[in-house]
Amino acid sequence: MDANGIRTCQSCGMPMSAEEHFGTEADGGLSRDYCTYCYRNGAFTESNITIDEMAKISGAMMSQLYAIPLERAESFSKDQLSCLKRWAGREIPLCESCGMPLARDEDAGTEADGSLSHAYCTYCYRDGRFTEPDLTREQAVEKYAPMMASHLGMPAERATEMVRQYLSTLPRWRE
Ligand SMILES: [Zn+2]
Ligand SMILES: [Zn+2]
Repeated sequence: MDANGIRTCQSCGMPMSAEEHFGTEADGGLSRDYCTYCYRNGAFTESNITIDEMAKISGAMMSQLYAIPLERAESFSKDQLSCLKRWAGREIPLCESCGMPLARDEDAGTEADGSLSHAYCTYCYRDGRFTEPDLTREQAVEKYAPMMASHLGMPAERATEMVRQYLSTLPRWRE
């Protein structure tokens, strides 16, 4: 696993950065897509779990960790899960700057030649450039945390913590 090898488990959304985070295929090789909690020996550990059950589990964790009201945490978790390969049927790329899902063409940013970006959303990247090229990671945290706090009904300092942690997994802000 190289330094840029952070992947998101395409079943539960957990960031996977070390070899031991990855699940295993039937031949013993590492899974490219799924974590060790979700996927072992080529099969899902809980093969019948639904997205709603999964959202309840990860929502409860988020609710506790970041003081988010349970219902909001669950629905936020479900939105996030619905972009993952196990639930969407395909892997939906996330903007490598803000994390927004690039689900539709109009969500994608544009390259200098007008083609769609595969890495960034339309808010972050247009005509081959970042819309805010000088934005630092800390400024990005300050920009997104209040939105997150009001969207999820959580205390501001927990939102700051959550956004800082999340941005550190995105390629634009990785150190
Ligand atoms: Zn997983
Ligand atoms: Zn973006």
